[in-house]
Amino acid sequence: MKKNIILMGPPGAGKGTLAKQLLNAFPFVHISTGDMFREAIKAGTELGKLAQSYIDKGDLVPDEVTIGLVKERLSQDDCANGFMLDGFPRTIPQAEALEKICQEIQRPIDAVVNLDCDDKELIRRISGRRVCKNCGTPYHIITMKPKVEGICDKCGGPLFQRADDNEEALKVRLDHYVHSTKPLLDFYQEKGLLENFNSLKGSELLFDEVRLYLGK
Ligand code: ADP
Ligand code: ZN
Repeated sequence: MKKNIILMGPPGAGKGTLAKQLLNAFPFVHISTGDMFREAIKAGTELGKLAQSYIDKGDLVPDEVTIGLVKERLSQDDCANGFMLDGFPRTIPQAEALEKICQEIQRPIDAVVNLDCDDKELIRRISGRRVCKNCGTPYHIITMKPKVEGICDKCGGPLFQRADDNEEALKVRLDHYVHSTKPLLDFYQEKGLLENFNSLKGSELLFDEVRLYLGK
């Protein structure tokens, strides 16, 4: 079984949905830098204030901030059963820092799961995306409607649209993806860790494929 994995893909490729499914099937902990920043924003911490100024525009939070956060998280005991990084690394310096951290804590990366998706579909998904304020479950106003409008099926929490899920910020995010994050695919391909999955086939099929690949 692959234990320590990285989930990659452009915004809207379905990383959040897949992560939730995988967490029900595998013992690893979920480390989403996007979620960590959003929690810090909600809590009103210094980190949150700093992160928000970047996130709302669709920009990346500076590497040194993000790397420090992940280093601290990965060193915690609960990562010993495996971890799934989601939204990290997003730049080459982050990937290089991660190599060092993994060596130090002796928890090497076993696989990089990359979700492929085309731009038109990404835009469609993000512009209709709604997220539960309580539990983070993602919905779509047309293709993944909740049973009751505006309410989470799982926990009854209110659904909202992320501040960076607007057309302007999305353009910036896709641009950062192409220029800063996409080069990581070669980085991990060369290490023999990269496995590509087509996220257009629907979340259930995708989940089955990834689950098989990860060894369960
Ligand atoms: P998505 O994959 O839908 O863009 P995330 O929740 O992963 O969303 O990230 C939201 C925002 O948080 C990003 O646009 C960026 O501003 C910030 N962020 C998350 N992870 C990183 C990272 N590894 N490096 C820099 N910024 C990050
Ligand atoms: Zn919920």
